[in-house]
Amino acid sequence: MKAINITFCSCNKYIYRNMWKPYKSIKELIAKKIRKELPRAKLSFKYIEMPLVLKEKKENEIIAKVKGKEHVVKVILKLSKCNICAKEGTEYYEAILQVRSSSFKVLEESIELLKKRVENLRHKGMFINKVKQLDEGYNLYMTNKRIAQALGRELYEAYGGIYKASPHLFSRSRQTSKNIYRVNVFVRLPGFEKADVILVNDNKVYKVEKLGKKIKLLDLEKNSFVSVDYSKLSYHILKKHSTYTSRIYPDLEVINPFDYQSSIVKNKPKQGLELGQEVNVVVHKGVYVVD
Ligand SMILES: [Zn+2]
Repeated sequence: MKAINITFCSCNKYIYRNMWKPYKSIKELIAKKIRKELPRAKLSFKYIEMPLVLKEKKENEIIAKVKGKEHVVKVILKLSKCNICAKEGTEYYEAILQVRSSSFKVLEESIELLKKRVENLRHKGMFINKVKQLDEGYNLYMTNKRIAQALGRELYEAYGGIYKASPHLFSRSRQTSKNIYRVNVFVRLPGFEKADVILVNDNKVYKVEKLGKKIKLLDLEKNSFVSVDYSKLSYHILKKHSTYTSRIYPDLEVINPFDYQSSIVKNKPKQGLELGQEVNVVVHKGVYVVD
């Protein structure tokens, strides 16, 4: 029987009729190939020597028994890279995912989320081939523009903010004379997180209740919720200070952390508080308890 040649990729694909096809296990694949020639052969695999470096070949001999007769089948395995894996670790990219936020923590969280998602997308040809760190974010050079857009949207839906995707002409294919586009995916995530307290339009104090396409805020003074569009939001984060309650009746009072005077609290905290209890507050033309 003729030697069997198998060219495979470390992502469990092999070349079949000039196409990369998936396989489950190399033993199964070898058995299938041998049985095409020698149906019902009993095969004894001892140890299959696999090539470990790219373009390396390893020759294996497999004993195939048919009706008591032994055949020695040569199986040559060659390690290669499939069309998808060949894109990894190169300069190739189809999309730049630009993530921005003024919050370092939000950026860290978002990149962790993206890395995890991309790890599971290798089989779809999705790799991050370059990361560029910037002052207010990072650029990820990705090998699949469709998935890059989906990931950008996913971030936007989780955190809210601003999402934009704009294709730009990269080149023209000589083979198909079609235009080839790359995509810039831009996501600006909020600079705040859930439970942060923000001052909006320099006059209203809100606690961030929920992030997402629509951002839900609690108006602390009115004790009511509003839903806002991030792109129209002008805000800054108010710093929380730790202080103590100084009076409970008739009004709740705390020690103002700036002038150390007992001050009436401007909002109604959810939980009942005791005298002398430690609480977190923000200060803006009055004191708000934000626990
Ligand atoms: Zn591969």
